[in-house]
Amino acid sequence: MNSSSDKTKVICIGAGASGLFFALNCADEEHEVILLDSNAKVGRKMYISGKGRCNITNDCDVKTFINNIVSNPRFMYSAINAFKPADTIKFFNEHGCPLKTERGERVFPVSDKASDIIDALFFECKRKGVDIRFEQTVEDIRKTENRFIVSCKGKDYVCDKLVIATGGVSYSSTGSTGDGYAFAKKFGHEVIEPRSALCPIKVKEKISHEMLKLTMRNVALKIKAGKYKKEIFGDLEFLPGRITGPIVLSASSLINRMKDVELFLDLKPALDEEKLDKRLLREIENGQNKDVLYLLSTLLPRQFISFFTENTGTDTRTVLNSLSRKERMKLVQDLKHFKLTYEGLDDIDKGIVTSGGVSVKQIDPKTFESKLCEGLYFIGEVIDVDCLTGGFNMQCALSMGYSCAMNMK
Ligand SMILES: Cc1cc2nc3c(=O)[nH]c(=O)nc-3n(C[C@H](O)[C@H](O)[C@H](O)COP(=O)(O)OP(=O)(O)OC[C@H]3O[C@@H](n4cnc5c(N)ncnc54)[C@H](O)[C@@H]3O)c2cc1C
Repeated sequence: MNSSSDKTKVICIGAGASGLFFALNCADEEHEVILLDSNAKVGRKMYISGKGRCNITNDCDVKTFINNIVSNPRFMYSAINAFKPADTIKFFNEHGCPLKTERGERVFPVSDKASDIIDALFFECKRKGVDIRFEQTVEDIRKTENRFIVSCKGKDYVCDKLVIATGGVSYSSTGSTGDGYAFAKKFGHEVIEPRSALCPIKVKEKISHEMLKLTMRNVALKIKAGKYKKEIFGDLEFLPGRITGPIVLSASSLINRMKDVELFLDLKPALDEEKLDKRLLREIENGQNKDVLYLLSTLLPRQFISFFTENTGTDTRTVLNSLSRKERMKLVQDLKHFKLTYEGLDDIDKGIVTSGGVSVKQIDPKTFESKLCEGLYFIGEVIDVDCLTGGFNMQCALSMGYSCAMNMK
């Protein structure tokens, strides 16, 4: 066995998903690994992930996985192939945290406790001899001829290889405050402007108090930005001044680098305009002496009706048997293309992930080593890679950690 002084000394800054997984895969007889984190515990962000249940991966094939990566999917191809969702499932099942697969192939711990995922990683790090140092906020890093000096308040660490796994800049209370970007810039790396992703979207229309508890099920959000067009089906919810819910979170990731964004809701995506018109005619036939308010109550959730009529200028008092064809066709249009005025994304701190970060151009996609500085590595959300919801972001963090560790040996 090598003595401590013969070993390659590796420091990893950040004990989140990527840092922990890197450390437990790297530490061995030839590699001494020190994991530094500013927090008093490991995996603070993992703890709140998946609403406290941690959606650790998505049980899908590599092609489907890559299709769910929004920024730089091709950069991730090698790492995802090296450590696939199936490998993640095997790892946790074998390390005291059995997993289960839910709707949309989302994988969670059977216990529904994110803490069990964190414990599995933490105890495996301990078993492998990783030296975890808490409450060590790295303030500066520099390189001498062939060693790195990592400075925390009142203490300097020296290492042969340095891994930056400091995460993005959202939910900064978990410790990811964007320090990794400054470290990257110091070594000449380009940092793509960090932006909100998987976050609510601000809209101009006033969201009423009663809409805050409403979930619009099975609607379609239509996105337009120049020539770009996309429709996303699913559920939508409301916050003061914002829309949210699964389809909105996905939309935010797709549009965060776009200009002139327009948003429309298709409130009846299962019916094309012709079928919707037939449906209206049927309702009108059945309620000749009733008014438009009644007609809308057959089509929309109660809490949404005033929002709809106020923003489309629909007169709810018109009696159905006097509704002209033109008025009926306008209703069809409004139901299929209900406009929401885009006012921007929610603050970056509210993003489930950060889009942007250290440019992939200057990082080797197999080893995650900097192409500008030998011995320096970047893994996890600090890199300009972000995915849709479903366990893809965690899996990317684990796959990067794994590839980096394996290729360091
Ligand atoms: C509310 C929420 C829910 C989520 N749910 C899911 C989910 O269910 N499934 C999914 O796939 N993804 C989810 N994500 C995203 C996922 O959590 C992240 O993509 C993932 O944790 C990134 O891992 P990471 O290791 O790159 O960074 P992090 O987990 O952010 O870890 C970075 C670590 O670096 C430390 N650090 C930073 N700067 C310094 C410094 N200067 N010195 C010392 N330490 C430092 C931080 O303290 C932190 O512990 C969620 C995110 C949020 C915010």
